Amino acid sequence: MSSHAPSHNPEFDPILTEVEMNLVRRKAPVKGRIVRSELCMNGKSPSFVRHIEVDISGTSLAGKFKAGQAFGIIPPGTNDRGRAHNARLYSIACGSAGEDGAGAVLSTTCKRVIDEHKPYKKGADPDDHSLFLGVCSNFLCDSPVGTEVLVTGPSGKTLLLPADTSKHDYFFVAAGTGIAPFRGFLKELFDGPHPTTSRVVLVMGTPYRTDLLYHRWLCDLAAKHDNFEYDVAISREPGPDGGERGEYVQQVINRRMGDWKPLLDSNRCLFYVCGLDGMQIGLVRTLAYHGLGRHYLSVPEEFDSVDPNEWPAERIKRRVRPTARAMVEVY
Ligand SMILES: Cc1cc2nc3c(=O)[nH]c(=O)nc-3n(C[C@H](O)[C@H](O)[C@H](O)COP(=O)(O)OP(=O)(O)OC[C@H]3O[C@@H](n4cnc5c(N)ncnc54)[C@H](O)[C@@H]3O)c2cc1C
Repeated sequence: MSSHAPSHNPEFDPILTEVEMNLVRRKAPVKGRIVRSELCMNGKSPSFVRHIEVDISGTSLAGKFKAGQAFGIIPPGTNDRGRAHNARLYSIACGSAGEDGAGAVLSTTCKRVIDEHKPYKKGADPDDHSLFLGVCSNFLCDSPVGTEVLVTGPSGKTLLLPADTSKHDYFFVAAGTGIAPFRGFLKELFDGPHPTTSRVVLVMGTPYRTDLLYHRWLCDLAAKHDNFEYDVAISREPGPDGGERGEYVQQVINRRMGDWKPLLDSNRCLFYVCGLDGMQIGLVRTLAYHGLGRHYLSVPEEFDSVDPNEWPAERIKRRVRPTARAMVEVY
């Protein structure tokens, strides 16, 4: 079969959980309160990422979020044009029941945006290399428990679990804070009296091992459930072969294709990606290279008879689309 005609078969497509969207907008946000804030890296790391919980009980947003959606936070203050800041989106890191079992305490996984100034904006001074601090991520991470925050949402219908989770198996690929929705999915799938019997794989990518997020919890979950497998891709440390170069998520998938191909090639499997914009490129190439594109990718004719490893990144971004069995959220 040619690669531009995915074997679309509605029988195997997921029927996704129904969601509500944008019930609360920026003009009339609800007030939540931070009730927990703790670092969630794997030890001392050059990046700072916090697991933050926000209590929205008593507001019109309580109970309205589904795993995989995001909430908006409006940071205090004004932007450089003197206007109130826009809301920033944060994926919920909890299941639909929230952290409290009633959907009234949401969590997220917030990474501080810290850098030296770079001339991103037109007209920016190329010699300015003073400290750049992202507004909202640093506001959230700075805020102690008890801080009031303005919340909007729910947002997002890209990454969702199927309504009947038993009908599918799951392949999750995360980079950095892209782990947030998968923590929520894993809670949804494994917490409670009837853990899923579906097969679930999570591949988590970070630059350094110390950047792994929720690592201990994920290892414990994998030790407890034979049907959950957790593997990591560490890009800036020596790879498992002892070579100098580390691995990106697609390289781990490529290396472990022997173990995972039956799962990825089955009609039950759904493929989810969340994290950094650009991570989808290598994954698209890898899936296509291993003949798995027909499940997960809609590929234009121009790629026919071209080795997937040669597919140009820009063309992939513009022309390759996920099928109903692949869900991709990158930011
Ligand atoms: C659907 C979705 C889900 C998300 N989920 C999460 C999540 O779970 N966790 C999380 O941490 N984030 C998440 N984000 C990202 C989040 O919304 C914010 O974009 C992020 O926290 C940065 O916001 P900020 O206000 O801190 O930075 P901002 O103040 O908005 O600064 C970032 C902007 O400044 C510019 N900039 C960046 N670096 C520099 C530099 N060095 N010099 C000059 N200018 C620069 C860029 O234009 C960039 O867009 C998500 C985004 C989306 C769209």
